[in-house]
Amino acid sequence: MKTILVSGGAGFIGSHLCTRLVNDGHYVICLDNFFTGTRMNIAHLKGNPMFEFVHHDIEQPYYRSGIDEIYNLACPASPVHYQFDAIKTIKTSTIGVINMLGLAKSNGAKILQASTSEIYGDPTIHPQVESYWGNVNPIGYRSCYDEGKRCAETLFMDYHRQNNLTIKIVRIFNTYGTRMLPDDGRVVSNFVVQALQQKDITIYGTGKQTRSFQYIDDLVEALLRMMATENDFIGPVNIGNPEEFSILELAEKVIALTGSKSKIVFEPLPYDDPKQRRPDITLAKEKLNWQPSIKLDDGLVRVINYFKEPRI
Ligand code: NAD
Ligand code: UDP
Repeated sequence: MKTILVSGGAGFIGSHLCTRLVNDGHYVICLDNFFTGTRMNIAHLKGNPMFEFVHHDIEQPYYRSGIDEIYNLACPASPVHYQFDAIKTIKTSTIGVINMLGLAKSNGAKILQASTSEIYGDPTIHPQVESYWGNVNPIGYRSCYDEGKRCAETLFMDYHRQNNLTIKIVRIFNTYGTRMLPDDGRVVSNFVVQALQQKDITIYGTGKQTRSFQYIDDLVEALLRMMATENDFIGPVNIGNPEEFSILELAEKVIALTGSKSKIVFEPLPYDDPKQRRPDITLAKEKLNWQPSIKLDDGLVRVINYFKEPRI
């Protein structure tokens, strides 16, 4: 049994990770400020003696001993939410990350950073490999997130080099699944909710831009495998599903799988929206012996069923 801290543990990915870690027999401390996370996401863990929730904003230092591992997931991930208070987003990825690294240092704990495919920006090479340095606008609307996450990777590397911290960096590509908020703003939840409510499906731009969608269970498995690698394997490592779809294809799939009568409408493309994105997962296959196993159609059916359930 390990004592494992998950920051952002009440969010979409964090709640699935906490659940898996508790089920695996670990003591889990979940830190969250409920910016985009909810009590509902962790309601099933309430009262479990192996789970502790701490209402905490990682921009403030957190002092605790006895921690073996830290997963740093705290940060809004949907463009709508991370642009809502851009300055806070940057603080979370810089001051907040320094606080989590300090906590790891004082505990001698291993720490994993949930980085993102956004650090590649609007990529000029395709698919994206970890050695690519990216094509990121430093002054745009997405920069608070993209540059914040890039700085977080830098901080992780400097704490490793200067303080000998054991670190892990994963670059997560678009992930979807149950427990996303209906108003999360990201494309899969938007389209599924719109289709189920027979509302227009809002494609931004032409819908020719591409993404590669990974189901949450595949990601959680990869996070655990990454944490368990030898101390000298740091990453960064891409974690995503290399099957690539246009946003128009995604909309058509959602309409077909829900049997919805929704119409597709086209709205303006947000600033700096990447045109294409697909991970090269050669490194993850080699080092983690991992590859995604859940097909987009199967994952979408699970999400559709989830959003069909009545919400309190
Ligand atoms: P999410 O918004 O559902 O979860 C983020 C969680 O962090 C929420 O519970 C939120 O309340 C919490 N949080 C935000 N700022 C905080 C702060 N200052 N202090 C404490 N808690 C804070 O998003 P998610 O999809 O679960 O993403 C989790 C992590 O994974 C994020 O770091 C995100 O950048 C990364 N990521 C996600 C994806 C994806 O497709 N879902 C892709 C790449 C990277
Ligand atoms: N998108 C869309 N309609 C929506 C939400 C998003 O067409 O209702 C597009 C968005 O412009 C982007 C893609 O879907 O091209 C993925 O968007 P998301 O916000 O899910 O993630 P990210 O852009 O961060 O990859």
